[in-house]
Amino acid sequence: MAEKRIYLSSPTMHGEEQDFIKEAFDTNWVAPLGPNVNNFEKELAAYTGAGHAAALSAGTAAIHLALRILGIGEGDIVFAPSLTFSATCNPIVYEKATPVFIDSETDTWDMDPEALRRAFEKYPNPKAVIVVHLYGTPAKLQEIMEICREHQVPLIEDAAESLSSTYKGKHTGTFGKIGIYSFNGNKIITTSGGGMLVSEDEEITKKATFLATQARDAARYYQHSQIGYNYRMSNITAGIGRGQLLHIEEHKALKKAIYRQYKEAFADIEEIAMNPHNPDGDANCWLSCMTISRESAVSPDQVMDALAEANIESRPIWKPMHLQPVFAECDFITAHEGRDVAGDIFARGLCLPSDIKNTKADMEEIIQIVRNCFAK
Ligand SMILES: *Cc1c(COP(=O)(O)O)cnc(C)c1O
Repeated sequence: MAEKRIYLSSPTMHGEEQDFIKEAFDTNWVAPLGPNVNNFEKELAAYTGAGHAAALSAGTAAIHLALRILGIGEGDIVFAPSLTFSATCNPIVYEKATPVFIDSETDTWDMDPEALRRAFEKYPNPKAVIVVHLYGTPAKLQEIMEICREHQVPLIEDAAESLSSTYKGKHTGTFGKIGIYSFNGNKIITTSGGGMLVSEDEEITKKATFLATQARDAARYYQHSQIGYNYRMSNITAGIGRGQLLHIEEHKALKKAIYRQYKEAFADIEEIAMNPHNPDGDANCWLSCMTISRESAVSPDQVMDALAEANIESRPIWKPMHLQPVFAECDFITAHEGRDVAGDIFARGLCLPSDIKNTKADMEEIIQIVRNCFAK
């Protein structure tokens, strides 16, 4: 077994992170809020072109607050893609609302606009639509936004995986009424844990900050008229984020290079297809993924086992929400009766190691192991 472990996507630190943390210590801004939080919000808003930003303890917290701010409550319906990480959908249930899962399309693996249209026929009055840019690939935003506008339903963009990806030249996360980002450990930049809620509407980010700090009224004593949360990002954590944000374009370029290497290396193997990209977008290639053709005798498990044998981390595709025991009661809407694109991608796919610290030799080793699985 190789001594060194090759990771799926591990944190890549640069040094500036520690400068911002040191500054926080030196000025004793260790207490929750402080200049790093304010500056990280400003810098992230400037980078993405989002109007306003609120720094939070997690991407999940940001989705939860987005739902709270849009007034989603008991019995309300929220449309969300089935093919995503559970963190997209759990906050719907926190608010006792009901998720309805929408199938993916094969061009981007993201929410299928056609399935979304069908969902509106069956459930004409959802309170929100959550779109996810899976693995960093922008969804068909124009079509999805058009449908949301037609029905006057607000769009929440879960851009947890797609920070730095653009659609028609504009950053993902800035199209919806509310956008969210995550800085969890394996995302394209990390603060060890953290999230951001963004919006064009400053009232929304102000409301997020208010709810994230226990919803304290503007009174002299501690007075509360609403239920709040302890969801704010700390000034230390924000310092890591500021240091990371300086390197995001570099991370993106390295992620894209990894995707290109896999694509070229597997081009001659008909059984392998890389995850598709939206031609209207520029994906950050957060994770490079592949699917294996239906006719192949090779299974994703076989490829993942072969990599694991060499101490190389890979991962199954997110298990779709409509196949999760916890969401067994929820409805799942597809574009065509009897077709399950999300389930099919899950059954035939896997996430390849996409760590930007991979060396040329690491990439060659991974590629060789995968190729060997398909050697006749
Ligand atoms: C990581 C992730 C989240 C959650 O972000 P956290 O910061 O880990 O809470 C939400 N949605 C998707 C699609 C994610 O990949």
